[in-house]
Amino acid sequence: MPELPEVFVVSKFLKKEAKGQTIEDIVVRYSKMMDESMRKKLIGQTINDIETHGKYLIFKLTDYDLISHLRMEGKYYVSDPDVINKHDHVIFYLTDKVLKYNDVRKFGTFDLREKSQTYKIPPLSKLAKEPFEIDLDTFYAAIKKRRSPIKTILLNQGIIAGIGNIYADEILFQAKIHPLKIANTLTKKQAQTIIASSIDILTRAIKKGGTTIFSFKSDEEVGWFTQDLMVHTKANEPCKICQTKIGKIKVNGRSTYFCSHCQRM
Ligand SMILES: [Zn+2]
Repeated sequence: MPELPEVFVVSKFLKKEAKGQTIEDIVVRYSKMMDESMRKKLIGQTINDIETHGKYLIFKLTDYDLISHLRMEGKYYVSDPDVINKHDHVIFYLTDKVLKYNDVRKFGTFDLREKSQTYKIPPLSKLAKEPFEIDLDTFYAAIKKRRSPIKTILLNQGIIAGIGNIYADEILFQAKIHPLKIANTLTKKQAQTIIASSIDILTRAIKKGGTTIFSFKSDEEVGWFTQDLMVHTKANEPCKICQTKIGKIKVNGRSTYFCSHCQRM
């Protein structure tokens, strides 16, 4: 699932391809993804900019904000209008190109909001700040109330936005905190280290084009952070710091990788 760095990379791609273009028509091939009323409102709108918040893309249109979440497999690409892929579910006919939303799993979502309502109603009203903007006292107060493992807390978009399964593992490794450590037992210093590690890892991941390999054509800047992963997907490999074998456990159903020596309970 794309996390903040991957969504940021997608927004850069969309800015390059779609900013300034007007939506002249839309073909919806999977009606649950976009209803007719939304489709009609979108026609004639110009894409003035593309912003991100956590894992959400926000198309800033003339009169509305279109909020797009890629979920598991969603991706955007530009291609020949005559070639329709089986999993192209929403096709945007723009001023001089065709932008396709492709989603094998069909979990992606579109929400259209009046500009004044964008952050007042879900999904964005429920979203916490990203690590870049979050305030230590707010973050620490939120985790002090929780008795869940810290790994689970980092995935909670209402507490901190943009972190998913891959980067949560990398952040906790860098912060030297065990993923099962109960949130309300963390010190303020550890909370601060988590925020600092989050900023460092997400920034480096953005520079390297994220971790997930996307199929749209900007390959040279996509997916290179895979080489920098320290623990995620490294089960049984030696830790790059201490040579202990990397462990793999499930935390709240999610595969979790850690070093039992570097990340003591
Ligand atoms: Zn280690």
